[in-house]
Amino acid sequence: MAAVPNIDFIDLKAQRRHIGQAMDDAIMEAVHGGSYILGPQVKEFEDKLAAFCGAKHAIGCANGTDAIALPLMALKLRPGHAVICPSFTFAATAEVVAWLGATPIFVDIDETTYNLDPRTVGLAMDTARKAGLEVKALIAVDLFGQPADYDPLEAFCKETGIVLISDSAQGFGATYKGRVTGSIGDFATTSFFPAKPLGAYGDGGAIFTANDEHHEILRSLHVHGRGTDKYDNVRIGVNSRLDTIQAAVLLQKLAVFAEEIDKRQVVARRYNDGLADVAITPKVMDGCISTWAQYVIRIDAAKRDGFIASLRAKGVPTAIYYPKPLHRQTAYKSFPVAGNGLPISDLVSHEVVALPMHPYLDAVTQDYIIEAARDALRGSAAAA
Ligand SMILES: *Cc1c(COP(=O)(O)O)cnc(C)c1O
Repeated sequence: MAAVPNIDFIDLKAQRRHIGQAMDDAIMEAVHGGSYILGPQVKEFEDKLAAFCGAKHAIGCANGTDAIALPLMALKLRPGHAVICPSFTFAATAEVVAWLGATPIFVDIDETTYNLDPRTVGLAMDTARKAGLEVKALIAVDLFGQPADYDPLEAFCKETGIVLISDSAQGFGATYKGRVTGSIGDFATTSFFPAKPLGAYGDGGAIFTANDEHHEILRSLHVHGRGTDKYDNVRIGVNSRLDTIQAAVLLQKLAVFAEEIDKRQVVARRYNDGLADVAITPKVMDGCISTWAQYVIRIDAAKRDGFIASLRAKGVPTAIYYPKPLHRQTAYKSFPVAGNGLPISDLVSHEVVALPMHPYLDAVTQDYIIEAARDALRGSAAAA
């Protein structure tokens, strides 16, 4: 039997080799520069990041969770307020709403894109009315790197007078009908957690807005609510800054990011070609480009454990995003759901499996993964 290979789920070392000495130089320059908090690299990165997606303002912050919390603080979210969001997402999306004492209202997703189903968001307004809550905002998530369906969501937010926040922690840099995520929504947010498509060497995040007044408030909020005089704080804020060293790392990564998004398309296409006849492969909406934060297939729920074990035995790591939608989790199950439950979120949580995905996944390794996946599905089909 051939030796089991050691395949990474996300190979950050390959990216590091690709960027090479420039990364070491950038980090050492930040170290020797001595301006560790809000040094010049932070401003340079914010400007380049805003330019990358076509946003007017980008504000660095400590992580992708704070990046969603800060706009909600700017909106003065408080108890009695509600925010519409998906349940099939990472906890941070709803967590920040609850931090501020407000209520997340969970809405179901579209079965083909796994993003908020615009046809069902209206149900959340009824849920809020019945619960005596005032809806202030909707948080759309660009799940697995694919932009949410923003045209109908924007129309809905405009019609109902609520704020649209785009949680693009996974999808920053994706394209929605000619627009780049980060520039969509009243606020957009992203995370630089290392495993995200644009990741740092630690925690980091950013907020985007086109509104000058919101921009000023966010600049103040993320540094303790400071006013024009550093020692006259004008509001209650937090300490949430992007580190200078992380900004230096991110400047190097941003320089290769467009090229990496292209490479991710090639990897996703190879998976689609190799697996479409044995699993439900992901579909990207017409006119959109995903950043492929995750490559997620769906298989029969009863076969998932066996599939994962079979791949593991062959050295192929997998992950499940997400095994439990938020409305099923201990901390979140008391919050309201729109309509009569979230059947699609429940269904897909039992069927999804993510395969290794990163821009530097070579064809030989990927062919091995595809073969292992095909074998596992054939094997379990025979056993069934
Ligand atoms: C990762 C992630 C976040 C939070 O980012 P952190 O930087 O880890 O705080 C928020 N929303 C979604 C959808 C994410 O995937």
